[in-house]
Amino acid sequence: MPEPGLVSVVIPVYNEEECLPHLFPRLRSALEGMNRPYEIIFVNDGSRDRSLQLLYEFYKANPKRVRIIDFNGNFGQHMAIMAGFDHSRGDIIITLDADLQNPPEEIPRIVLKIDEGHDVVGTVRQNRQDPKFRKMASRIVNSITNRITGLRLNDYGCMLRGYRRDIVNIINQSCESTTFIPALAQKFAVNPVEIPVGHNEREHGTSKYSFFRLIRLNFDLMTGFSLFPLQAVTMIGMAVSALSFLFVLFLLLRRLIVGPEAEGVFTLLNINFFLMGITMSCVGIIGEYIGRIYSEVRKRPRYVIRREWDHD
Ligand code: UDP
Ligand code: MG
Repeated sequence: MPEPGLVSVVIPVYNEEECLPHLFPRLRSALEGMNRPYEIIFVNDGSRDRSLQLLYEFYKANPKRVRIIDFNGNFGQHMAIMAGFDHSRGDIIITLDADLQNPPEEIPRIVLKIDEGHDVVGTVRQNRQDPKFRKMASRIVNSITNRITGLRLNDYGCMLRGYRRDIVNIINQSCESTTFIPALAQKFAVNPVEIPVGHNEREHGTSKYSFFRLIRLNFDLMTGFSLFPLQAVTMIGMAVSALSFLFVLFLLLRRLIVGPEAEGVFTLLNINFFLMGITMSCVGIIGEYIGRIYSEVRKRPRYVIRREWDHD
């Protein structure tokens, strides 16, 4: 049951024992400073360290303000946020990472923007403090994603964001098993806005995304919001066929004018490898979609909650 004026803060937690003791006091004082009711929903995404014990201590000390959803495994950051959304009661829902890379002190500014009438408040990290390769990869992903999805976001990766209740309700209704929440919200937003927010290095603990996990997440983003990659496959196929046809014509003329040729075997091999590479990536792209269809039709639960701590 949504509660008028309430601000819900949803935080996915996966092995964040080093961060949580620093996060909680800062978060609480930022929220207290707003002088309005709030709840903090921690979603423990199968942490194997002491994170859950720490969350439980926060809950014990503030049972009215803190709620915990404990997953029985690691279902991923976006599923954790989905569960948090599903259990949130606020009019305004804020998502925040547990690692303090985005300062909780920015929350009041986001809430203010929603009060001004925006339904989705996105954020753009200023002076982003992440490894160089990640920043570069993000820039590429941001521009490709904007192009193929037709969405307009300057920073897909920043998870400190605000959503109005109606948007979260729509997100709750879209039961996707692989998704990317900022893009999903942007799709349904009527009056979105983006504001700059601070960004810090991860001071405690380590990033939970390995290189391959980041790639998988970006596949989710690109295939989850557009059919363009599939259409690109068709277009590449058509372009290659057209070029090959011209090449056949060229060889035919050459044969008539210059005579038969037997050299250039390695060139031919090289061209062949190139085309094989294109074919394999195209099969891969189609496979990405089929894999997603497969996980949707299997209809396994998207996440499994082991236990909840909630004062009512
Ligand atoms: N996280 C999660 N489940 C996962 C991976 C990450 O709940 O499988 C949480 C993590 O605890 C953190 C947030 O998602 O609160 C962002 O993770 P991280 O800071 O490692 O990502 P990065 O900033 O490196 O993109
Ligand atoms: Mg982080």
